[in-house]
Amino acid sequence: MSKIFKLLILPGDGIGPEVMTEVTKLISAVEKSSGAKFEITYDDIGGAAYDRYGTPLADSTLEVAKQSHAVLLGAVGGEKWDDLEFSLKPEQGLLRIRKELELFANLRPAMCFESMVDASSLKPELVAGLDIMIVRELTGGIYFGKPRGIETLADGTRQGVNTQTYNTKEIHRVARIAFELARKRDNRVVSCEKSNVMESGILWREEVTAIHTNEYNDVELTHMYADNCAMQLVRNPKQFDVIVTDNLFGDILSDEASMLTGSLGMLPSASLGEVDENNFRKALYEPVHGSAPDIAGQGIANPIACILSFAMCLKYSFEMNDEADKINDAVNNVLTSGYKTKDLIGNNEQNLSTQQMGDKIIEAFNSIGS
Ligand code: NAD
Repeated sequence: MSKIFKLLILPGDGIGPEVMTEVTKLISAVEKSSGAKFEITYDDIGGAAYDRYGTPLADSTLEVAKQSHAVLLGAVGGEKWDDLEFSLKPEQGLLRIRKELELFANLRPAMCFESMVDASSLKPELVAGLDIMIVRELTGGIYFGKPRGIETLADGTRQGVNTQTYNTKEIHRVARIAFELARKRDNRVVSCEKSNVMESGILWREEVTAIHTNEYNDVELTHMYADNCAMQLVRNPKQFDVIVTDNLFGDILSDEASMLTGSLGMLPSASLGEVDENNFRKALYEPVHGSAPDIAGQGIANPIACILSFAMCLKYSFEMNDEADKINDAVNNVLTSGYKTKDLIGNNEQNLSTQQMGDKIIEAFNSIGS
């Protein structure tokens, strides 16, 4: 009997629906090649949800998200909704779904396809074959810690306050995700903090070490200060396999790593939560880029980030590693053949529309292993 996976698709705003259309075509190709079935529900988020429901994320949508095996999201935001009050802005829909699904681990791969080495700001030999996974703690740390705010002191001086807190539970669960991922990759984890100057960093190091010793001592673990990690990422990025770090350092290090690989239109991401009673981990997959209002509606957006996000979904939610690898190979083959969307185009390369790029990738996907 074929497996049936419940997938909620939220195309969102701007280029979101355009790139998601290419993903839905690919889903049909994956169904044909694998025998798996995807039971898809489509709904709105962001500005599109505001227009339809009067809120950037309707409760009914959230309910479906909670019942789904995975959520696939395009992008949110746009000028049309800029004047809405803060709680109704499109981005609030995104923040709410991440919070309500308790997605505590953000996975950002930094992979450099052969044909993209020249798009990197680093020398080709430093990035060719690069394959790093950054695991960022997403729901704790200084972005959420209390006390926070801006206060006026007795002498009239103003003071801004944010607080970094981490507890053992928060550290353990994200560390486990990193170690599990490493086991499926090159079996190496680098844990980053600032234990030289922060107590929360000392606890982070101690607790990651404890989880490693007790549960994952087959995986190689190294500790690194976050500032050194930032430097090592541009000095010798290929030394890394999995990097696990807190919310603030992860925010910065994942953006830094992503630029090693070229364009924003190529970057997928996953956000993972706890395993539910049906043995599925709560998960949301989305491209790193936004709704790109400057090019929306022109049919020139690069759909690859969204397509690779779906490949991550196959791998991390549905254990369909072969199909996920086939998608990555198909993308690489198309790019290597000199087909690019406008954001990637170089000399002597063929400029494809969003739809043409989707079609080329599906064609390449279908020809692998056939
Ligand atoms: P953006 O990522 O939308 O665009 C930045 C630049 O990259 C633009 O020039 C855009 O044309 C280009 N770009 C982005 N994705 C591309 C793709 N797939 N193909 C080709 N070119 C691409 O960021 P922004 O301009 O800062 O924000 C635009 C809107 O998106 C804002 O409303 C912002 O709040 C929102 N946003 C949403 C998300 C999200 O949904 N996760 C993330 C970032 C920004």
